[in-house]
Amino acid sequence: MDNVQETAGGFGEFALIERLRSKLRASDNPDVVVGIGDDAAIIEAGNGKCWVISCDVQVQGTHFPSEGVSGFSVGHKALAVNVSDVAAMGGTPRFALISLGVHGDVPLAFLDEIYEGMNAKAESWEVVVLGGNVTRTEGPFFIDVFVVGMMEREDILRRSGAKVGDQILVTGHLGDAAAGLYLLNHPELKSKVSDETHTVLTFAQLRPHPRVHEGKVISSLHLATAMMDISDALAGDIRHICSASGVGAVIWEHELPISRSALDLASLAHVDPEEWALYGGEDYQLLLTAPVSAVPVLQEAVRTASGTTLTPIGEILEERKGLLLQKIDSTVPLEARSWDHLK
Ligand SMILES: [Mg+2]
Repeated sequence: MDNVQETAGGFGEFALIERLRSKLRASDNPDVVVGIGDDAAIIEAGNGKCWVISCDVQVQGTHFPSEGVSGFSVGHKALAVNVSDVAAMGGTPRFALISLGVHGDVPLAFLDEIYEGMNAKAESWEVVVLGGNVTRTEGPFFIDVFVVGMMEREDILRRSGAKVGDQILVTGHLGDAAAGLYLLNHPELKSKVSDETHTVLTFAQLRPHPRVHEGKVISSLHLATAMMDISDALAGDIRHICSASGVGAVIWEHELPISRSALDLASLAHVDPEEWALYGGEDYQLLLTAPVSAVPVLQEAVRTASGTTLTPIGEILEERKGLLLQKIDSTVPLEARSWDHLK
């Protein structure tokens, strides 16, 4: 079978990243403060400041459906997911460049809407879209965003600092984005939920709200030990903090912050809402760890600055204990299910 070519599909997203990581030479460069393996890369900018850079592509048919999603939502989300990665380091987003891959049938109105969707929130996320590049493609439409942020070097929050005994915290609610996707896939349920529930859940999926201000407050206090954003799903993303920090963790299932809207839809759809919170993904909340004594200070600071709740959902354990899910009457291994864009 020597002449059979290996393909990316047989690898899975994270194995592929590991393979490509081995081809990079960036670790030799003294200006690289944080290289591959975190939410964003960080580069020395002088005078105690750093650049925070990241890129992320959204492909039609993979990240958003070919029909039924407005250009406005596509633009909003493409910028939001990149801004979220800067927020996850504790940085302030500043500038973005956009690359579009456009096939001949894409309506011009759809492209106009994309820019309207990006501009609508750019100011509140403190980011300016500078320009970019357009290419013709025979494949699906795609939008790739490259974002640049800034931060103080002393405020950087990596994934690798979690300590045994730290609490695990999350901003806002978990599972709304997955519940929103469920609602979009089951249009017959629209008339059975309130308008508010429909808007809250579908907007969580289509127009996520990156936690820029919360991330800055958390990083500037120097109390949290590790942070990342939840893009794939809690059950998968906590694994990244644990492997980067050399620790294990237990998640308290009954403490997961699930919104009234997600609970309402879950009971209507006969779905376990904890499934959405643990394995659904795309919530773009911040996931962080901090010593128990720092938790009330962080909660109060984030609430005062942004009105956002910060909920303890688990504890960091020794590495040999692995990843656990504590249910009401039992503790089981935390399943490794999570979204993989190549599978
Ligand atoms: Mg991320």
